[in-house]
Amino acid sequence: MKKITIAIDGFSSCGKSTMAKDLAREIGYVYVDTGAMYRAVTLYCIEHGLITDEGVDIEALREKMDDVKISFQFNAEKGRPDTYLNGTLVEDRIRTMEVSGKVSHVAVIDFVRKAMVSQQQEMGQGGGVVMDGRDIGTTVFPNAELKIFVTASAEVRAQRRYDELTAKGEACNMEEILANVKERDYIDSHREVSPLRQADDALVLDNSHMTIPEQKAWLMEKYQERCQ
Ligand code: C5P
Repeated sequence: MKKITIAIDGFSSCGKSTMAKDLAREIGYVYVDTGAMYRAVTLYCIEHGLITDEGVDIEALREKMDDVKISFQFNAEKGRPDTYLNGTLVEDRIRTMEVSGKVSHVAVIDFVRKAMVSQQQEMGQGGGVVMDGRDIGTTVFPNAELKIFVTASAEVRAQRRYDELTAKGEACNMEEILANVKERDYIDSHREVSPLRQADDALVLDNSHMTIPEQKAWLMEKYQERCQ
């Protein structure tokens, strides 16, 4: 069977990566979490003092951009790829509130996007990939055979994020998380380069009131329909 390209875009914390990862595992495709890539660049900026209260030091980051190497390695125990930054495992460190609070400011930078998009296109060439992000169906793979746009209310998404962080034992505050979700929505949808928007040919999934198994079944059905 021909391997297709599946693009899953949508707002933050709406369960895209869980759906995408599960589908990829089930159908034997490669899963690429593009948000993890922007998060890794953000972690690099934090660790190299390139982000201050005034914002990102754009010129310093531009000079260092070629030194930022992001890769993934499949973790069989978790059933998903782990993210590596310059050869170091950073999967947990890129998921903190500190990174979440800064990532949208790094993801607006044009040369950062250019570098990430070209790596993503390389990872997905030849199909057989499920990629999730904000601009996959619009910019990275505008010809993807299956495009999904996922959404849910900001309150539902903040609650999911809160549960996720609490389960990991990270101290967090619901109001702060809701504010972060809303801020990222705004920045991601209003930036100049590749703003988050629904591709004209994307199927919309509002999963505010769906369970994970229901979403999984919905996505599998759409994949099977597309392959027929
Ligand atoms: O998907 P996740 O919430 O981990 O993404 C983190 C951030 O990375 C998003 O809020 C967005 O600013 C940025 N991002 C992006 N383009 C993508 C994926 C993520 O701008 N394709």
